[in-house]
Amino acid sequence: MIEPVRPLIDPYQRVVRDLRISITDRCNFRCTYCMPTEGMTWLERPELLTFEEITAIARVGVERFGFDGIRLTGGEPTMRAQLPVLISMLSELRDPRTDRPVDLALTTNGATLGLHARALRTAGLRRINISLDTFSPTRFFEMTRRNQLDKVLNGIDAAIDAGFDPIKLNIVAMRGINEDEIIDFATFGRERGITPRFIEYMPLDADNSWSMDQVLPAEEIVETISTRYPCTAVQRGSEPASRYLYDDGKGEFGVIASVTKPFCESCDRIRLTADGKIRTCLFSLEEHDLKSIVRRGGSPDEIAAALEAAVGTKWAGHAIGNVNFLRPKRSMSQIGG
Ligand code: SAM
Ligand code: SF4
Repeated sequence: MIEPVRPLIDPYQRVVRDLRISITDRCNFRCTYCMPTEGMTWLERPELLTFEEITAIARVGVERFGFDGIRLTGGEPTMRAQLPVLISMLSELRDPRTDRPVDLALTTNGATLGLHARALRTAGLRRINISLDTFSPTRFFEMTRRNQLDKVLNGIDAAIDAGFDPIKLNIVAMRGINEDEIIDFATFGRERGITPRFIEYMPLDADNSWSMDQVLPAEEIVETISTRYPCTAVQRGSEPASRYLYDDGKGEFGVIASVTKPFCESCDRIRLTADGKIRTCLFSLEEHDLKSIVRRGGSPDEIAAALEAAVGTKWAGHAIGNVNFLRPKRSMSQIGG
């Protein structure tokens, strides 16, 4: 018998419909706000979920609970061998009620897209977010500890050529680091048909050196852009970004105010780490093991029950800036941003 689709509802009556899947903790960059220069301990290969295990979990989310969005991330997801194979497996998943395919997206630092963009598109990837924080080669090196700005810019071109639409650019906005480039990013987006999304710097750096004064508040970013390019706010949906449309019709930009104006009350996502743990919040202090269930051949019913139990513990929200705030032990690249 086919189980009917039913919503997965957390204790605060939010419907979970979005799954972020980290497929590796490894990365070819060492962004200061995410990883240390050296000294990371990587997961061993057998600890990673296989493509079949990932798909089994995602299938339950889509077919039992009506999840409509899946985003692959990491670490750097393009470091995982045979990524197009996983993309094609996930792109087959459909909501049984509507037969609509799941909205499949990828977040990448873009450095290898010049090589892989077309294969990813052909495999069924629909949307892509590319992370880039500066157009200055020197600053790029300081922020990522790698000399690969050209490769990322080339990756953006390759994504446009491969027909990804929309393409979003993730920019971690940091006070005193790249705040002078906000308008450059807006201009770049308008010229290239790309949506910049400015993300407030969150306390998930591996060096534990985050402080509030390094956060460039989203409100300030909107003010800076709107003085140059008049724009109007779009009514907020469940997505974390607040969107602004340029009044002259040349596209849009977004800001993600995770620190100054958290959007926890509309959060509709859970995360699956590369080693098979469910996290119900980026800042969760506890994780729920799914790997042992899928690895012993657990049934969809068992996976569904485990997902439901995990979601039953989803908290109201994080408390960055509050005296009670405790940062998670894992940093961004290990959780999956
Ligand atoms: N490696 C890929 C990339 O950089 O796009 C995917 C993983 S990365 C962890 C996902 C997103 O998280 C990136 O856009 C990155 O800029 C962002 N990020 C990482 N650390 C962050 C932090 N401490 N605060 C805010 N955003 C962060
Ligand atoms: Fe790697 Fe992405 Fe973290 Fe930068 S933000 S170190 S590219 S995982």
